[in-house]
Amino acid sequence: MGDIVSKFGGSSVADARQIRKTESIIRSDPRRRYVVVSAPGKRAPGDEKITDLLYACQAMSARGESCDKPFQTIRDRYLRIARELGAAAEIEGWLEEFRRQLDSGASADLAASRGEYLCARLLADYLGADFVDAAGIIRLDDNDSVDESSYATTARRLSSPGLFVIPGFYGVDSKGEIKTFSRGGSDITGALVARAVHAEVYENWTDVSGLLMADPQIVEDPRPMAEVTYREIRELSYMGAKVLHEEAILPVYREKIPIQIRNTNRPQDSGTVILPARDCRLRPVAGVAGRSGLGLLYIEKFLLRKDPRHRSRVFEILAMQGIAWEWERAAVDSLAVVLFEKNLGQKRKLLEEAIAEELEPDQLEILENMAAVAVVGEGIAARPALTADLLHLLSREDIPVRLIDQGSSKISVLFILHREDLGRAVSTLYSGIEAAAESSSDTT
Ligand code: ASP
Repeated sequence: MGDIVSKFGGSSVADARQIRKTESIIRSDPRRRYVVVSAPGKRAPGDEKITDLLYACQAMSARGESCDKPFQTIRDRYLRIARELGAAAEIEGWLEEFRRQLDSGASADLAASRGEYLCARLLADYLGADFVDAAGIIRLDDNDSVDESSYATTARRLSSPGLFVIPGFYGVDSKGEIKTFSRGGSDITGALVARAVHAEVYENWTDVSGLLMADPQIVEDPRPMAEVTYREIRELSYMGAKVLHEEAILPVYREKIPIQIRNTNRPQDSGTVILPARDCRLRPVAGVAGRSGLGLLYIEKFLLRKDPRHRSRVFEILAMQGIAWEWERAAVDSLAVVLFEKNLGQKRKLLEEAIAEELEPDQLEILENMAAVAVVGEGIAARPALTADLLHLLSREDIPVRLIDQGSSKISVLFILHREDLGRAVSTLYSGIEAAAESSSDTT
């Protein structure tokens, strides 16, 4: 049987009590041989994350200000954890070393990485495990992505028997300097280790019992997903669902290693498994997600499609104005482009003028405050009537849809609508999908 890589997020290592839960999870299955940790996170709403405090410390030092206050908070937190666990007698020395690094001009990346470094050292000592510094195994390339050589180095370093604890979130660059991934990047370290050791499962332990079919801030008590495919999760997170770090899917996707999202506070719950394929007969749809911050550009011009230069001119103008776009849909005499709204307000006039001058359109419309809602599921392609059903649900609630995109992805249907309707659209679609799944399960 294969080994398991278990990554524990900030809430799972936030204090001694949480770390004891983490320990009992690790000890309950001898296949859990590779443990990746984040820095201690919030213990309660309103609490501070160690990583945020570390960035604050570094910024203050870099400005020549004293960082005593945040440093003291960090120090107290680690000392308390070590004391309560009766572990890592050397913690004071490790903290002093970090203080010296800060005082001699540590980079923001080095400072931030110490959250994971100290946490992993502490946990390794507590568990009697082998501490493996990520700086010795993980290399980041010039785009801050994992350098391919890291997989072989990691596999070699972790090839002996026993239990290993590895800090998440960082590695070194080509010059050997500490470099972090973007925020939430311990997920990437976990995925990298899982691929390197050919793990059977990559477990991602958090404080929720799996991923939900819709945003719980919009939908009351949405259903957790038992299974979801890599493709579905990519689309859902692109559309705004809060899942894993975006770059954490690729390493395990290549090796077809399932990712299991689980709850440290409720280890009895099976959570959500992200895997290559799932049986979607009963539940064709995996989830519904929405995203605001969009705009819509609509141009109508007789014979617009006939001259391809018109369309390319539109995109040149957008690029010149620095306006990013998401999707485009062209019809015989019209073109609709979904834009990122950031800065659109300021650039609107210039954009209108440029398009008016160069294309002389019959109609030009720029809409701000738009949003997109995606219904995502592997079973969508096999159900052509689904889009009509979804539209019917929206129209019954008087939610106008400006644009539909079906077919550019086989596993999602996308609705562009006004931002004020986003919440209502998500809950309407979710309820409709749930009702349909329940009635089909009654008849099977
Ligand atoms: N500690 C880092 C952060 O807060 C990385 C992580 O937790 O994954 O972003």
